[in-house]
Amino acid sequence: MKADSPSFAILHLFATGSYGLRQGLLQIGVLSLQKGQSVLKEWFINPEAEFGRSVQKQSKISKEQAKSAPTWQEQKAEVQEYLSSFTHVFFFQERHEHIWFKNYILAGMPSPPVCADLAVLSSFFLPHLNLMEVGDLVALSTAAQKKPASQPMPVALTALHTQLFKLLEVLLQKIPSTPEDEPGEPTLFLQLLQQVLNLGTVYMGTAWRALQAAAENIETLEPLDLHWLTPSPATDVPVLPYHLRKLLSSWLPTVTDATVVKPRVDIAQPSDQLIHDALHAWYKKHGLPERYAQMEYSKFCNKALTDKGTFVAEAGTGTGKTMGYLMAAAELLRLNPGRKVVIATATKNLQEQVMQGEIPRLRFKGGLHAHLRPAIVKGKNNYLCLSALLDLYDELVVQEKGTIREGLSWLSLVLRVYQTQGEVEEIPHNIRAILPDTYRLLSEANAQEVCVPKLCQEPAKCTYARHMEQAYAADIIVTNHHKLLQLPPKLTDLIKHCIIDEADQFPDFARSALSMNFSLGVVEARLLRPLLGKNYRKGFLDRVAERVVHHAETETAQLVLDEIDSIHRDCDTIRTSGELIQALPIQGEQRWQEEVALVENGRWIKREFSADIEQALQELLTAIQFVAGKIERILRLLKMPEDKTFSRLETYKEKAAEFADSLQKITSDFPARKWIHVLEKSGQNWSVSKMPYYLQDEMEKLQNIYPSLLFTSATLYVGGNTQYFRNQLGRSEPFEQEVRYLSPFNYEQQEKVHAVVPAFIPCYEHKMAQDQKQAWLQTSMETLLKCIVALNGRTLVLFTSRRDMDDAYRWLYSRLPAYDIELLKQEGTSLWEIRRFRQEEHSVLLGLDRMWSGVDFPGVTLSQVIVFRLPNPSLGNPLVAHRREVEGGYFWSKFYYPASQHKLRQGFGRLVRREKDKGSFVILDSRVHHTARMQHLKDELPVDITPFHAGEDLENWLLKTLLPKLELASEWERRGISF
Ligand code: SF4
Repeated sequence: MKADSPSFAILHLFATGSYGLRQGLLQIGVLSLQKGQSVLKEWFINPEAEFGRSVQKQSKISKEQAKSAPTWQEQKAEVQEYLSSFTHVFFFQERHEHIWFKNYILAGMPSPPVCADLAVLSSFFLPHLNLMEVGDLVALSTAAQKKPASQPMPVALTALHTQLFKLLEVLLQKIPSTPEDEPGEPTLFLQLLQQVLNLGTVYMGTAWRALQAAAENIETLEPLDLHWLTPSPATDVPVLPYHLRKLLSSWLPTVTDATVVKPRVDIAQPSDQLIHDALHAWYKKHGLPERYAQMEYSKFCNKALTDKGTFVAEAGTGTGKTMGYLMAAAELLRLNPGRKVVIATATKNLQEQVMQGEIPRLRFKGGLHAHLRPAIVKGKNNYLCLSALLDLYDELVVQEKGTIREGLSWLSLVLRVYQTQGEVEEIPHNIRAILPDTYRLLSEANAQEVCVPKLCQEPAKCTYARHMEQAYAADIIVTNHHKLLQLPPKLTDLIKHCIIDEADQFPDFARSALSMNFSLGVVEARLLRPLLGKNYRKGFLDRVAERVVHHAETETAQLVLDEIDSIHRDCDTIRTSGELIQALPIQGEQRWQEEVALVENGRWIKREFSADIEQALQELLTAIQFVAGKIERILRLLKMPEDKTFSRLETYKEKAAEFADSLQKITSDFPARKWIHVLEKSGQNWSVSKMPYYLQDEMEKLQNIYPSLLFTSATLYVGGNTQYFRNQLGRSEPFEQEVRYLSPFNYEQQEKVHAVVPAFIPCYEHKMAQDQKQAWLQTSMETLLKCIVALNGRTLVLFTSRRDMDDAYRWLYSRLPAYDIELLKQEGTSLWEIRRFRQEEHSVLLGLDRMWSGVDFPGVTLSQVIVFRLPNPSLGNPLVAHRREVEGGYFWSKFYYPASQHKLRQGFGRLVRREKDKGSFVILDSRVHHTARMQHLKDELPVDITPFHAGEDLENWLLKTLLPKLELASEWERRGISF
């Protein structure tokens, strides 16, 4: 029976399988939030289908227990009756839970409670927590309690409960009171919150409705301080920037320890014994056995960090590389206070692992390194500019030019500044879905793009500047390859020791960091759209024109208006020249000096297209230079620097001058051996760039900055030496010292990896006839499906081309649901998909470049890696094509073959991450067996590859050999399926 007044509950499910309808529900928990009650109800439901080991492990419910429980049909009435006593239910919406809620829990209820998704609310109001699933909350909760989750359902409910209260606290207790000096003004937060809640009832569905009800009836929950929640003031009074500043200043964290200590001139080198003892103490603290390879590796890192020179160490999977070098760095810093070590990684994953996983474990309380101060340094483009946020506020709210949705997007960015110190890297997909304007505002307030220090309104509070202050005060600085090459001299002067991890990717990142880029999309977004306006939004030039008529003398006003007209024409020229390049028949990336097919006078001709591009770029460059010059002239005419509107013109002048400068640099010096000029088209945008081919000069600079430099990675050697790595860096002589620590896993003897190639699949060829290609694709897809189905998911499929990946996705999409296997595909950084794959055992992840290295899926969730096509470098890739020209006959042995060997080894390395991991490695590309010039690829793998010459042989092997070895044979029997 529903209560008269609102009543709240938190609900959580453990569901089996993936998302299909064949799966069974296992466990439901409901925690009532009525005042004075904390009633927990739990039900076990007998699953209608098999449930995986991970669910069994998480829920701590054995299969026997589950089987003796009632089915959903038997339990439905009781569960639904209990749920009907609540008006509102909060839950953490995950995909399978959502389906269960819709199809089972709420289905058929006469008046179901309003359901609110805590994930959406959390993403908006607590973005720093980056919570994507209830597992994150449980982990936080159990970590806080320092004990394992012995009763998963109550722990999950408690975690959800805590989350709800955190949200309410943010909503209620962070509201600044009305300032005494401006009585009667409404507070910014209350006003916008009210808009959030009002909007919720119209657009945002149940989550916002529930939040509103919860906020209005907060006294039914727990005793929180309620005096903040006064009735909403009138909403038509404009909110002044004063409130925003107050809000921001009350929220921004302060840097407490910014003392920069100068390094000592001499250095005390930790002895091998000290490294040994420190690692021992660490093993003991964390209950780990001694790892011989890690000890040796750490001692080598110690030498590399304290001796002069450039060192190289490959540490195979399982060595314990990250802690190995961190321990050497920590001991160096302990003996040499004031020194700093910088660690650069290629991927964000590893950066997170270092900052959030390994360094906290190293700094355990009472340990030798408890006082180490780490800091992360990211690019300026990862930060929001407060000054720009104030401008946006002025435009959207004070001048009432924004929609409510834009206002909410703006609010979500402000909350992000507060909660994450201004970082904007990952906007969660649920926020993207409900507030798409967030993206646009994000680019309009991106510190990298909009920072003009002399116009800054909040220099003392700049989030990027504060972030850099933390780096000056830190002992260990973690950054990425790209940023390593752009650290300010003020910081690099303090650092002498550098570790470059994931070093095999360093040459490519270095090249990209050193390249110059010009993108039409960026010019459109940063210059043309703000100046000219779009849709209902007036352009900045029109605003200046309006203002100049009222504030300047008639003669000056006329001159300014003439210049504005002329700028409009220049902007048209920029767009027209841009469209000419956009119309060129180019796919993806292409070097300028290549030929393209063009239609001229109705017939196809082939010709070098650099002339067309260069002409269009020249026109574009001249027009941008004109825009900069004319804005400069307007500023000289107006002479009103204190006027805010006019002074913002300065920003656009600087932008235009910057664009012109970079375009001029890119178009100069062409063609040249030492530069690679690239034109890239994607969708409605194109960009041109110029990247260096040779890296010797940059390497010399790096070695001068960091006298002790260590390159390390799990895969640096190819063919037993570092020649390929050296070739990429343009280094002819060996490094000071090169060491290789092989993986301690014995793949073959311990039968960890079973590698096979279905040799019956036709060989792939670049220029295949259509029917041959169809036959290849059909057999490849059928074989792929069989391998995935046999292992019940648990598979990572690695692709070298997006087209192949999309084809496979389409093929599998309609077929996998029949087997209850979830299909995931890499999109961008794919943080959500990576987590989902880790969490959901019966899933398959299709991935491109990024998935070949730098991602970790320990345990049974990854029991099979499938390489769809051999990772040979694409000859169309501009860098590869340039290399081919420059290196001539040496290209193949110096770069092409080693690159494929290296990448295949990286893909292989995904499979076994921990001692107990095992699985199959399938190369679907039969060329590795049939084509003589591809045979070398096999040499780089630590196992033999067994070929199968008929589909039935592969099926037999999967079912009769592989599944028993992976202890999955009985699961296959229970599933009752066949190929
Ligand atoms: S210094 Fe630059 S990035 Fe920082 S707030 Fe000011 S304008 Fe923005």
